Amino acid sequence: MIYLDQAATSFPKPFEVIEAVGHILRNIPGSPGRSAHQGALAASHIIFEAREKVAAFIGAEDSSQIIFTSGSTESLNMVIMGLLKPNDCVIATHMEHNSVARPLEYLRQKRNVKVIFAPCNEEGFLDLDAFASLVETHKPRLICLNLVSNVTGTIQPLAEILEIKGESLLLIDAAQAVGHIPIDVSKGDIDFLVFSGHKGVFGPPGVGVLYIKPGRENELSPIKLGGTGSRSESLEAPKFLPDRFEPGTPNLCGIAGLAAGIDFIEKTGLMKIHRHTTALADLFVEKIKGHPRLKFYGPKERIKAIPIVSVNIEGLSPSEVARVLDKEFQIAVRPGLHCAPLAHKAIGTFPQGTVRFSFGYFNRIKEVELAAEALLKIAA
Ligand code: PMP
Repeated sequence: MIYLDQAATSFPKPFEVIEAVGHILRNIPGSPGRSAHQGALAASHIIFEAREKVAAFIGAEDSSQIIFTSGSTESLNMVIMGLLKPNDCVIATHMEHNSVARPLEYLRQKRNVKVIFAPCNEEGFLDLDAFASLVETHKPRLICLNLVSNVTGTIQPLAEILEIKGESLLLIDAAQAVGHIPIDVSKGDIDFLVFSGHKGVFGPPGVGVLYIKPGRENELSPIKLGGTGSRSESLEAPKFLPDRFEPGTPNLCGIAGLAAGIDFIEKTGLMKIHRHTTALADLFVEKIKGHPRLKFYGPKERIKAIPIVSVNIEGLSPSEVARVLDKEFQIAVRPGLHCAPLAHKAIGTFPQGTVRFSFGYFNRIKEVELAAEALLKIAA
């Protein structure tokens, strides 16, 4: 199979990641932070090192500000649900994933939170003038920013957005950004940033990260409470980080795998990964562009996108195209709305969606050529 659904989850996983997960299952008999025997201490040490690694990878000064979660969805919910109070105002963008849009819709209904989606253009870029005027008028408590779109790959201009945001808190959904573009939370006023382990960082599914800027933890109520292995004499949850937001037995395999994925990126070089994957996306576009039945979505300048190419064939539904690619050509892509209906409204492809090709470090030129040929045959 030619796997071009890397934006959903990266595949294959590097050997180091598989080994790190296997090492836990084979050799680590204990729950981190729960007992003082050697197995539990070894488990705690693995989490400690992983936390330090993630912190260094995204430029966080203090590793206790890194919270391990089950993925971007949980991290986003922790901020949105834990922060917003009745009658607060929040501004998000039209490129948001449902893991932002749905909690916001829930709070709109249940807590009377005022939710505004700032407009984006056909290429998926935030309309900065409209955004600035919405921020100026509503002075929202929170701004939710989809940094890189999972539909079009569009990379938003973070520097400009940071200038506009003013006093509002900023939550960045970096699910599609990490592993593709450099992330540095120390540059600019970023309050919260989330990502998943299983996409651009090559880790296993079911693990993710929430970065909280020092001091901002005091504005968040935990949405989950339970055992932390610390201060167990008290029925009140500990206030200190990371324990405050990490109740329950952690996903040790996931966390170790995520850390190994970061090791892989650092060993390989983010720029090398970026060069290879963008070259693949560029080649794909080059091979198929100009066909009269094919329509492209996303940034015209591909340098402003990660290696995601969303297309449609005139007269065919995205799911039909994906079905033929899968059944006749053994090519895996993702059709439809990609859990981001608002983004499709912005780019004009709602409700049918698009066919999304997403490329990763382990994809080869030959695979891209075969995918382009297959698409052209379907469009012929
Ligand atoms: N945000 C974006 C932009 C995404 O692409 C995804 C995954 N499709 C998520 C959030 C949610 O990530 P997860 O399913 O790993 O929690």
